[in-house]
Amino acid sequence: MKAMVLPGVRQPFELCQVQDPVAGPGEAVARVIACGAGLTIQHVKAGRRAAQFPRILGHEITAEIVAIGVGVTSLAAGDAVTAYFYLNCGHCRWCLASLEPLCVNSGGNVGIECDGGYAEYIKLPAHIFIKLPEGLDHRRHPAEIGVIGDALATPYKVLRRARIKAGETVAIFGAGGGLGIHQVMMAKWARARVIAVDVAASKFDACRKAGADEAIDAASCDVVEALRELTHGDGVDVAIDYVSSTRTLEAAAKALGRGGRLVTLGGAGQPFQASARDLLYNEQAILGSRYVTRSEILETFDLVARGEVWPLVTEIRPLAEAEALHARVERGDVTGRAALMIG
Ligand SMILES: [Zn+2]
Repeated sequence: MKAMVLPGVRQPFELCQVQDPVAGPGEAVARVIACGAGLTIQHVKAGRRAAQFPRILGHEITAEIVAIGVGVTSLAAGDAVTAYFYLNCGHCRWCLASLEPLCVNSGGNVGIECDGGYAEYIKLPAHIFIKLPEGLDHRRHPAEIGVIGDALATPYKVLRRARIKAGETVAIFGAGGGLGIHQVMMAKWARARVIAVDVAASKFDACRKAGADEAIDAASCDVVEALRELTHGDGVDVAIDYVSSTRTLEAAAKALGRGGRLVTLGGAGQPFQASARDLLYNEQAILGSRYVTRSEILETFDLVARGEVWPLVTEIRPLAEAEALHARVERGDVTGRAALMIG
């Protein structure tokens, strides 16, 4: 099969002929139609996330099952699928509790610890594939449908994790990024007042189109002051930090009001300081939110199938142009999500 192989860190992709994958016991093989090209994948290419090479990257797939291995009963040839990003075990207490991101036996990630979707075919353990629900035209919109399970579902989970209610004020740090802009969309869908915070003011128009009520340019003002001003001194109900640097986390924590919740995701895991006094007297909470559960992915697909939300994919290129597309992802030039067309 044709595959876009990454030979090593900071090296260009190579379009190669590699052996077709064969489904072993408990596995399935799918023909890939499209695959999202987000920052998570670019982190591997740029060396910010360790991996073994050579590797075929990509996890945000729209695909169709073509073969199943011995013992597989959950899938059949022709099923339209996407993939769960984590190679979770499916049987530990966390997996059984539908909290798959916390799996204690995780084998890593699709497209990082095993080969992914930048190829004509992908082989995975059968339980890692997620069947698409009825009502989604995956052949007509393969790029959009491929990114839903990460770009829209991860922000959908945050709504629940932070218990966001209609009418609350939600500040999103890194709102112009690929996930951030989908968080804007989902927070608006939850009928919150949405404040976009970013240093890339060029993304503010897109943030407003996605539903942001206000935008704060963090490069040119004091974000905490600006958020206090926009909330008449009360502070925000929820701050969601997709940058999660020490600086943004500390600003987000300071901007919280009474009962405020700070959600961290993304970032490099840097430490930060928050006031225990504010946490206590204002009953605030600091939360981590990691990827998304399988059931939340299905719920997000249902929202899309009902026409309530739709992912923002602004750049769709053929697989052969992966290198050029990733250069744009690295520079932060892509608004929303990008995807590669494969089959
Ligand atoms: Zn598990």
